[in-house]
Amino acid sequence: MKRFGKDGKLIIPLGQRKKGTPESEEEKVRYVITDAYCPNGCNIIDKEQKINGVAGLRIRFMRPGMEGEFILSAIEGDFDKIILSGELEDGVKDELYCPHCGVIFGKLVNCSCKPDADMVAVGLTPQLDFNNAISFCNVTGCSNGTSIKSGDVIRHVRLRGY
Ligand SMILES: [Zn+2]
Ligand SMILES: [Zn+2]
Repeated sequence: MKRFGKDGKLIIPLGQRKKGTPESEEEKVRYVITDAYCPNGCNIIDKEQKINGVAGLRIRFMRPGMEGEFILSAIEGDFDKIILSGELEDGVKDELYCPHCGVIFGKLVNCSCKPDADMVAVGLTPQLDFNNAISFCNVTGCSNGTSIKSGDVIRHVRLRGY
């Protein structure tokens, strides 16, 4: 699996869908996020920062000894990110915050990749609604480190029996 491919330090794919997995009809339609909000209602879409032609989601990250900001792709299944400042470390968890007001993003469920990993929720409406949100793991390089709709997370969790 190529995690730190491409040509530079700036854009890294967070993970890749397993090759050969049959795509359902639903998955052929790519879901693009046009609005995303922090728990206080700030719009975190950054029109200055485009990934594959689409304005991305600006997120502030922090862990002991490191902080910075990155842009997450707004396209479902697109794992590219732009690091604006600071550095992410493979396999390391960061707490994620709103770049505007500094509030921490809520956590939906634990991610199975690490005991302390969380699936962080980002609302698609100014008033946070978990049925209208995306979620991704806060551990760099986790295959759940991508934007997926939170309803799917809840379904996966139920299937796994948490
Ligand atoms: Zn905010
Ligand atoms: Zn994870």
